[in-house]
Amino acid sequence: MGTWMATIQFPDGSRKYLRYSTNVEEMFNPVYSQSCPLNGTLPDGEHCYRATPIGEPDPSYPDTPLGPLDDIIPVVVTTDSDPHEWHALFSPRHGMVLGPRSPFHSRETQETYELIADDAGVRHLCEFAITEDRPGLMRPNSICELLLTGPPLPYYKEPYWLVDFHPELASEDIPYIDLYAQWGSPDLCRTCLVDLLLNPPRPEPTTKPEPSSPPPQPRHWLSRLFKR
Ligand SMILES: [Zn+2]
Repeated sequence: MGTWMATIQFPDGSRKYLRYSTNVEEMFNPVYSQSCPLNGTLPDGEHCYRATPIGEPDPSYPDTPLGPLDDIIPVVVTTDSDPHEWHALFSPRHGMVLGPRSPFHSRETQETYELIADDAGVRHLCEFAITEDRPGLMRPNSICELLLTGPPLPYYKEPYWLVDFHPELASEDIPYIDLYAQWGSPDLCRTCLVDLLLNPPRPEPTTKPEPSSPPPQPRHWLSRLFKR
């Protein structure tokens, strides 16, 4: 337990370093250009018993506007504490990692969002699928504010803790998918991926349906439970 080092590797093979907390299982800014390896010698001459970023952090500009998505660089994150590996986004304009900060982000995302393609085949993360259960909720449902009415792709998974109690709710054999590994794919919406990092997951929609519409049903697993 404690603080370990996370390494981010850029597409050109170069690396930078952050700290990773096993208490909250997240890495956190700032970013460092230098590190001391295990069994190396720290700047103060002490033996290094755990790899760590050293030196001054890189300059960071957290208040800078986001800027063009083309400027964002996908990186691969590894930690020294566990065999975790995941993909994240680094913003040179900010000198910071935008996220995801946790190796478990893909799990949380899949247990929260649907993945739905637009007419051009671009996939978006959606708060909910517009189904017969939810006819009153014809409002933008993707994170990037589109109204997508197509069928959800095989992506959403019931929360693992719920499946433990209700195995019958297990999604078909859908693996956890690291969407950030697909950054730059023309069929995946980058705005959805970035906005998900910059804004916390949204709560259940609170829009009131028209009086003539049936009330919205709880989504996903709640809905299925109530039908039993
Ligand atoms: Zn989108």
